[in-house]
Amino acid sequence: MFNRIFIEKDLRDNPRAKAILNRFSSLPVKEIDAIDDVFQKVKKPYLQKRDNLNLFLGTKKGKLVKEAPDAYGLSGDPHYYFIHAYNCIYECNYCYLQGYFHSPDIVLFLNHEEIANEIEAIAKEQIEKNPTTTPWFHAGEFSDSLALSHITGELPFYFEVFKNLPQGKLEFRTKSANVKNLLELSPLPNVITSFSLSPADKIKKNDLKTPSLKARLSAISKLAKHGHPIGIHFDPVIYDHDFKEKYTNLLKDLTQAISANEIEYISIGVVRFTKDVYQQVKMNYPESELLAEELIKAEDGKVRYARAMRMWILQTIKELCLEAGIDSEKIYLCMED
Ligand code: SF4
Repeated sequence: MFNRIFIEKDLRDNPRAKAILNRFSSLPVKEIDAIDDVFQKVKKPYLQKRDNLNLFLGTKKGKLVKEAPDAYGLSGDPHYYFIHAYNCIYECNYCYLQGYFHSPDIVLFLNHEEIANEIEAIAKEQIEKNPTTTPWFHAGEFSDSLALSHITGELPFYFEVFKNLPQGKLEFRTKSANVKNLLELSPLPNVITSFSLSPADKIKKNDLKTPSLKARLSAISKLAKHGHPIGIHFDPVIYDHDFKEKYTNLLKDLTQAISANEIEYISIGVVRFTKDVYQQVKMNYPESELLAEELIKAEDGKVRYARAMRMWILQTIKELCLEAGIDSEKIYLCMED
């Protein structure tokens, strides 16, 4: 998976770092002072992730938990995301990380205790301000939350944190089917695993190197049977002349894996790019179907389908969700005004 490991000197004796190094004992390891001294210092093309990927282990400095953008989650509650990794082993052709970092190398931050301290402080402040609020914390903003969880091993730690923070909610967002570690943990009502799903052919074409729809649905079914709360993201939706039929079938398969009333929420978002990511997509995937439809620069600077088309797609899929038995208050439209 990796060519080389870079590790910050201070983490030499860190048990989490040692466990990761043990897993990759045959790889060359280089000690560095700080990740920022090496990571992104030389621009590394995104597609080099296919055959030249390094792993960095370090400590995240600065703000560890940040306010999430509008429409990030169910409305009415404050939403935050925390940063415990940069980049991803998968290769979705629309991934915004390709225009975000100057390198696809994977960075894992191991100071989870400090992240948890910030989470607890924010939750306390929010609850003091409004005792009925539910502060949400989302993992996986700059990576996939579960894809490497068998290697990183932080899941039990976060479960313990949120066991003691019942008013807060934690979301692990993923496209993986890597749920073995989750299945070993006792479910918590406030720790939600959410899966991004698309019709099977879209996953094959666009979510490169990710588990198939079948594998993700099987993971959802196993987790739900085990009692883990499940969220779903239909995001990004990529237009196709028969998208309605495809999402009808997807919802049929989904509600066979987990009953509609067991799903905590479904978000729906249409494909969108920042200007930089759009340039990268054109360069990295010129033949992609992402570029087949007309895209416009929207008021928020993002490149998207025209507003009328977006609204039509979102409403159509929302209707399908309602028909599949999902309660309307569990459905939210992602990143739309
Ligand atoms: S799973 Fe998410 S983070 Fe990983 S490549 Fe796909 S879009 Fe990017």
